Formats: sequence, structure tokens, C-alpha cells
Amino acid sequence: MFIYSFPFLLDSVVVAIAMEAEAMPFVEYLGLKLEENFFPSQAPFQAYSGNHNKCQITVVTNGKDTVYGTGVDNVGTVPASTATFMTLSKIGKDVDLVINAGTCGGFKAKGAEIGDVFLTTASANHDRRIAIPGFVEYGVGLIQSTNTENLAAAINAKHGICTTSNSLDHNEDDDKLMLSNDASVKDMEAAAIAWSCKLFDIPHFGVKVVTDIVDGDRPSHEEFLENLGSAAKSLQAALPKIIDEVCGKGHEEL
Ligand code: SAH
Repeated sequence: MFIYSFPFLLDSVVVAIAMEAEAMPFVEYLGLKLEENFFPSQAPFQAYSGNHNKCQITVVTNGKDTVYGTGVDNVGTVPASTATFMTLSKIGKDVDLVINAGTCGGFKAKGAEIGDVFLTTASANHDRRIAIPGFVEYGVGLIQSTNTENLAAAINAKHGICTTSNSLDHNEDDDKLMLSNDASVKDMEAAAIAWSCKLFDIPHFGVKVVTDIVDGDRPSHEEFLENLGSAAKSLQAALPKIIDEVCGKGHEEL
């Protein structure tokens, strides 16, 4: 019997973005609509969805903090993996790819400059130091990203490992682990999102725009605030190109 197997094409993508300011221009560009009851009422997360070029796109943001009464964006690993896990529990069987988009610190030793767009090759943690046999590797939590060799070339992005912690700044212990993680960029969500994707066995990668230089001479928070506007523009320029490159392709083409 002759069986013709259709190539598997990507037609459902989740884009996980921690901060609302980073997500909204993209949501508006694609004309996505807020999904009112996507998450249970206790969850602070938001989901926006719609179609673009025959692709179902769901943008998930981590929402604003109500727990500590600050009202700022829910950055960091706990909201990131929870939002991703809940999203994939709900629509994971239809999702072909998760893209984690956001800002990051870049290592000039790895060629990073402010405004650069990096696609992750892997993610790991640099604030989980557990010096017990077996737990060391667990703490680092290295997870490979899906291959994006062609995509990086098509959108002129750099490639590298993203190292994650729950701090914007870094101390000497972080420095050692970031070095041993061979990181090109540093953020507060990538490894946590990758963890949830791995549980669901869904391919994923990060798109990270550099707002500050980690191994430079200025404090991260100063540079971050100064460059957030221009980095957000780089991200907004990159995301539509990525969606256009990804939708309708096979994983092996990325
Ligand atoms: N006060 C800021 C909050 C920034 S938290 C504001 O509300 O505008 C930093 C966010 O940017 C996180 O989501 C993190 O993933 C990313 N980020 C940018 N530069 C970073 C760096 N050098 N280290 C860690 N995370 C960074």
C-alpha cells in the first residue's frame, strides 16, 4: 500500500513574554484578542490569541503582581514556569512550538551588544547551588533549545546559551556559574519556561534582546532602564519576522 506522509508543519505557536510592555506591541500588531477565561480566576496571567498566516498564535504574559501588592510585572521563574505549565496543560496537545520572548543582559565576552537579538541554543540556571551528588546537575538544569540555525541566519540574530536566575544583578557565585554555563545572555525566565516545555515534550527556544551588558562597567538596572525602549523596538522588529519564518515550516527547517 502506498502511504503518502505529509510533512509536519508548524501551525500553533505559544509566545511566552514576561512583561506586558514587551508583549502589547506584538499583540496589537497581530490583532490578537484577550481570552477572558483562559486561566482560572486566581491566576494573574493573560492569554491573547488569534490567527496569522494560517498559524494559531497565543501570546501569554505573566500579568501584574497582586500577591505582594506592588502591581509590577510578574518577572522571574515562578510565574514563568507556572504560566507556561498552565498554558500547555490547556492547549499543549495542539501546540507545536513555544517561543520565550523578552529582554536580557548580554556578555560582551561572547560578542553581545546592546540591542542584539539572540536565539537561545540552550538554557540553564545560575542561582541553584546544591552541593549534593546528583543535585548539582539538577540545580544547573541545562535544557537544549530546538535548533534554529536557519532562523537565526534569516533574521540576522546571534546564537547562544541563556542563563537564568531570579536576580537582575549578579554576585561572585553567579559569575562563576554563568561562566561554567557558557552563557551568552542572562535573564530571569528562560530556564523556567524550558522546564515546563520539557515536561510536555514541546520544542521551544528563546528570543532575547540585550538591554544591558553583564560584564561591562555599569550597573544592570541603570542600563536596563536606559535601553528598555530601544530593546523593546528590536524585539518588536524581530518577533513578526520570526513568526513569518516559523509558521508553516517544518521543525527541521528552522
Ligand atoms: N524594573 C523593571 C523590571 C525588570 S526585571 C521594569 O519593570 O521595567 C528584568 C526583566 O528583564 C526580566 O524579565 C528579565 O528576564 C529581563 N532582563 C533584562 N536584563 C537582564 C539581566 N541583566 N539579568 C537578568 N534579567 C534581565
